[in-house]
Amino acid sequence: MKFSSMFLHTLKEEPRDAEVVSHKLMLRAGMIKKLASGIYSYLPYGLKALRRVETIIREEMNAAGAQEVLLPGVQPGEIWKESGRWSLYGKELLRFIDRKGGEFALGPTHEEVITDIVRDEVHSYKDLPANLYQIQTKFRDEIRPRFGIMRAREFIMKDAYSFDVDDTHAEKSYEAMYRAYENIFSRCGLKFKAVEADSGPIGGNFSHEFMVLAATGEDTILSCSECSYAANLEKAEIAKTGSLDFQKAPSGSFEKVHTPGMRTVEEVCTFLDIKPANLIKTLIYTTDKGLAAALVRGDHEVNEAKLRRVLGCETLELADEAEIEKSTSAPRGFAGPVGLKIRTIADIALTDSGPYVVGGNEQDYHLKDVWLSRDAHTDIIDDIRNALEGDPCPRCSSGKLEAIRGIEVGHIFKLGTKYSKAMNAMFLDENGELRPIIMGCYGIGVGRVVAAAIEQYADDAGMVFPESIAPYPVMVLPVNVTDSHVMATAETIYSELKRRGIDTIIDDRDVRPGVKFMDADLIGVPYRITVGAKGLKDGVVEVKERSSGTVERIAPEAVAEYCISRLKDVGNKY
Ligand code: ATP
Ligand code: MG
Repeated sequence: MKFSSMFLHTLKEEPRDAEVVSHKLMLRAGMIKKLASGIYSYLPYGLKALRRVETIIREEMNAAGAQEVLLPGVQPGEIWKESGRWSLYGKELLRFIDRKGGEFALGPTHEEVITDIVRDEVHSYKDLPANLYQIQTKFRDEIRPRFGIMRAREFIMKDAYSFDVDDTHAEKSYEAMYRAYENIFSRCGLKFKAVEADSGPIGGNFSHEFMVLAATGEDTILSCSECSYAANLEKAEIAKTGSLDFQKAPSGSFEKVHTPGMRTVEEVCTFLDIKPANLIKTLIYTTDKGLAAALVRGDHEVNEAKLRRVLGCETLELADEAEIEKSTSAPRGFAGPVGLKIRTIADIALTDSGPYVVGGNEQDYHLKDVWLSRDAHTDIIDDIRNALEGDPCPRCSSGKLEAIRGIEVGHIFKLGTKYSKAMNAMFLDENGELRPIIMGCYGIGVGRVVAAAIEQYADDAGMVFPESIAPYPVMVLPVNVTDSHVMATAETIYSELKRRGIDTIIDDRDVRPGVKFMDADLIGVPYRITVGAKGLKDGVVEVKERSSGTVERIAPEAVAEYCISRLKDVGNKY
């Protein structure tokens, strides 16, 4: 492609409303364009990167035995009511009414649609296993769309669904997808880690997330210093070490203290001159199983995924002011476990010490010298807090958890019979017995993979695309387009690369070399071949590798072959 005719308009200035590097660079390199909050167009350079990722995904999914389908983006409300998610999915599901008054949604995921197909098409164990996938637009009305296409409202996902006769076979399908994902992300040139994860609203009982490691990632990963345990923050367990019961209390009583207007941990601790570890935070939650109070140390955070599991509830959110007042007789900031009448769950770390300062269930009052064993009633003691760097590993005895940041690019779930039971997707087994199909589901955020790759490798000069997903792996850069020898040599090299199937750019613009070099760096072309009059006098052109910055001087006749041999290193199909 000639640079002069590309629909590529690079920007020198940093776009103001972009927070992370990948978003800034994708805008500066003319890859994407915002239409509305969380809704983006892909321009040619961006789409080419996206297509490269899709090609790798298709090849690996097909190799793993999955077959491609294309399901509708618009989904009738009925199937969501059948699965029970019409009421559970919440505001991320964008719903609308058609002209006949029918309820519809824009698909945020496709478990219902695929289960509807499979329950009609699959009848017998002979029809199984099956694995169907698609690459398609999803819509999620995210509460905080940000980072460009990384957390968009409309985005492209590869989603796959597996169907098996029993758990053993479903396990094999899951493992095959796990391996396919490892292949996909390796071939995309990413540094990544598979971590244990919570299943969230998709459901099921087991899942792994594939995280691209990047300091700016939204997700925290807890990874053991000694063994292979790694989990996301929602899921990361903490080894239960000390006592499983509260400390024994001395005789005596707690004391009421006046804490006017002191609502936050920080305010109360400063006012009473105590450490956050000596205070208990009491958070009131509304759930589908009624109100519940969660107690954690002042320096710890409640982990809502853990709390949801412990409570066995489907929905869980922080109670509003009115519910707090009703259940604690005090405004927000003064809730405490003493005398509380709702279900109370204490974090296990609270068993390590005492006494504590707690909210007084009365405006402007806290209680000090509270011993949970003596003064409060708790229903459950369990691990309900976020793991922290330094916590003991739940798998091995010697390791400590380390916290690293990542970007979730893929997520695989064992769904079990959640959807097949709810939607009656059954098959006849070898003994003629009717059984629910065992399902799994497997997602990859295709756009997010592109953004994550940019995030992982970018430097001060711009993007550094891994070769396998670079829109154009090679650029030929004639320094002076008015020099006929330079231009003829550049064009010969360009033609040869194109003939060999390499997507190549020739920067034929009559602009200052500095501008060309800056653009080549910004758009992250992995190999730049600079053709200049001075080099040609010595019989060479220069090949600069974007990632390492190393420069090789090579004869013009040999340079195409050199680039092709380098590109083969990453298993590309050139
Ligand atoms: P997240 O926790 O980031 O919201 P999720 O758990 O909701 O992700 P899944 O339902 O597992 O995501 O979707 C599969 C994949 O789709 C994710 O691993 C991610 O790569 C991608 N994805 C999810 N939400 C978005 C989004 N809003 N924008 C872009 N990609 C997304
Ligand atoms: Mg999400």
